[in-house]
Amino acid sequence: MSGKSPQLDSSRPDSRPVPSAPAIALSEIDLSLGRGAARVHVLRGISLAVGQGEAVGLVGPSGSGKSTLLMVMAGLERPDGGRIAVEGTDLGDLDEDALARFRGRRIGIVFQAFHLVPTMTALENVALPLELADKPDAHARARAELEAVGLGHRLNHYPAQLSGGEQQRVAIARAIAPDPAILVADEPTGNLDEATGRQIVDLLFALKRDRGATLVLVTHDPGLARLCDRTIRLRSGRIDVPVAA
Ligand code: ADP
Ligand code: MG
Repeated sequence: MSGKSPQLDSSRPDSRPVPSAPAIALSEIDLSLGRGAARVHVLRGISLAVGQGEAVGLVGPSGSGKSTLLMVMAGLERPDGGRIAVEGTDLGDLDEDALARFRGRRIGIVFQAFHLVPTMTALENVALPLELADKPDAHARARAELEAVGLGHRLNHYPAQLSGGEQQRVAIARAIAPDPAILVADEPTGNLDEATGRQIVDLLFALKRDRGATLVLVTHDPGLARLCDRTIRLRSGRIDVPVAA
């Protein structure tokens, strides 16, 4: 595990994150997906480091690999080649169980398609990661997070009873609730009207400002990209010329 990391400070216990390590470090990431004729070389030699507490906007045309790169950063997709380290821990050193635990402790994920549990209410969906992490008062915290995204009146609705924008806000509340050090979000304002989108953006950036969280946000919204410290543009699975924030 992280004990092998050359960046580990010997005065710190192995499992503690290394403050000097980047939040996310990708080195020469290669990934192909699909089988046979449908196989696509999605990520081609991606290297980048995201600093702790940094907000990075990930932009680029549809199909350029943004969602896939986010999944690699979150440890949900293992690359065919290259290395990924999160807070100094090489994800390649973790087996599936250890990786899932690491993710649960450190990373919040907002999927492009939300991935809410259909048989659970909004409140239960948001409480789930809190319960898995043995946090006290999971339901009270989940309720507060849903109120913060403007869904205090939809606590007991199931995902199918919610609009796309409401489901997106449940997904954001679920990702924020466990207070992750790193939050990756795939087009988090993609389904929201302007006012609701602003409210969500405020919440995401409050996580960075007040709790020092690292944000990686896939977005097509130039206004949101401008709020980030830095923008990275993907084109056909490669990092394109960097765009000043
Ligand atoms: P973006 O989020 O930038 O729109 P994606 O990361 O979703 O792009 O996809 C990048 C490319 O990889 C697309 O051309 C897509 O069709 C392809 N792709 C994604 N997932 C798979 C898969 N499971 N099998 C085959 N091709 C895939
Ligand atoms: Mg995508």
